[in-house]
Amino acid sequence: MSKVRKKNQIRRNLILRALLDNGQLSLTDLMKNTGITLPIVSKIIASLAKENLVIEVKKKDNIQAGRPPYLVKLNGKAGFILGVDIGRLFTNFIIMDLEHNIIMDIRKKSILLSNDISLIGQLEKEIKSVISEAKVSWNKLLGIGIAIPGMVKGKIGLSETYFNFGEKSAKEMLEERFNKTVHIEHDLQAMALGELWFGEAKNEKNVLCVNVGWGLGLGIILDGKVYYGEDGYAGEFGHIQVVPDGELCYCGKKGCLETVSSSRSITRIARERIAKGASTMLLNHNKDIEQIDARMVLEAANSGDLFSIEIIEEAGRFLGAGIAFLINLFNPSLIILGGGVSSAAPFLVETIKSNAMKHSLVQLNKNVRFVISKLGNKAGALGVAIYLARDIFEVDHLNPTAYV
Ligand SMILES: [Zn+2]
Repeated sequence: MSKVRKKNQIRRNLILRALLDNGQLSLTDLMKNTGITLPIVSKIIASLAKENLVIEVKKKDNIQAGRPPYLVKLNGKAGFILGVDIGRLFTNFIIMDLEHNIIMDIRKKSILLSNDISLIGQLEKEIKSVISEAKVSWNKLLGIGIAIPGMVKGKIGLSETYFNFGEKSAKEMLEERFNKTVHIEHDLQAMALGELWFGEAKNEKNVLCVNVGWGLGLGIILDGKVYYGEDGYAGEFGHIQVVPDGELCYCGKKGCLETVSSSRSITRIARERIAKGASTMLLNHNKDIEQIDARMVLEAANSGDLFSIEIIEEAGRFLGAGIAFLINLFNPSLIILGGGVSSAAPFLVETIKSNAMKHSLVQLNKNVRFVISKLGNKAGALGVAIYLARDIFEVDHLNPTAYV
């Protein structure tokens, strides 16, 4: 690429990114935001408008005389992003336009997660069906963001646990298959991104997103940015030991927090205790112990079943003590509890909170708030979609300061 073309490409991307991040802006705002001079901003906007990528918005309430006031924004319908959050039980799909409007939001029974080549075909089938259901043209799909559990190095597009079957990274394989830009993200970091852009973390700087679902995970936001750690693996909160010589965890260690505070552990503990003869409302409708799951325990607890309440409270006590460590380490302003377990059991939040406060230092916990995620299970798909949208207009690696 010639130097002039590269320069124009960078300026163009800087403007597109500013509009993607901020919605409507005036040309002066764009100048301030990008550092590009006003005449060049005007010229680029005119060319983007010709391509139908940017549209002019009339400002209704402007009373300044003289200058014709106008704002510009991205043409939302110029392109779409698909965010996919593959969970152990469900997969969430979000289609977003360039103005962050959600065109499609659907949750399906998950594809079977195992590190098998058939995963790609299963995923392709689901994606094609969602895109056709949303009536979005495949050509207008700018890219696909995919959040996956397990060990993921998003920056280099590598997923070690799933989609790991050969020389090529998950990103490379999926880009070839779909012929689209693909971004791979760890599901918990995707959740944190979703909360940061669209959820409770929007106006906060230091936030911990604790997901209590099938497993137990943590997304970390520090100084307004999602924290990945050196290799992208930061946040394996579920695998700190809390019960010496406790239950064997699937990670190979014993007594991990996840073995006492997750829907999997709630299911296991309930079944074990019932098998030993405990009495509970759960037996009124389920004669087969193996049919009992965490969702039923949560429902029974909400209906006052003492057996179930005790199991949920135990999970909350361990989790609260674990969160106390995090408060002492990170001094957050906000803790967002996500995942099926937290949303189904409001009283669990109280147990978590009181134990987190009890075990952390007062100077560090006095301003911390606890909330249940409003985005719920959409956070991950939203997060990976916005990451991808911003990445399409990425200019950092081209050293924009040399060109503006
Ligand atoms: Zn573990």
